[in-house]
Amino acid sequence: MAKRKLKFVRDHPLLGICGYCNVQFSSGLMPIEAAREDIQERFDVHKCKRGGVNQAAARIVRKTTKD
Ligand SMILES: [Zn+2]
Repeated sequence: MAKRKLKFVRDHPLLGICGYCNVQFSSGLMPIEAAREDIQERFDVHKCKRGGVNQAAARIVRKTTKD
């Protein structure tokens, strides 16, 4: 399983970014701990985009260079 990392980049409103696919999560909940948990929960269930995109791109490259 790919290792993912959640980075918090802003406090008001709280903004977190997936260090793997750069998807952003923001939450205006108060207190800040609630916002942090809200973002953490959504981060835990989100699916990183990078793998699928790269595989599709690799297929296109192979197809075009083959002809
Ligand atoms: Zn991600």
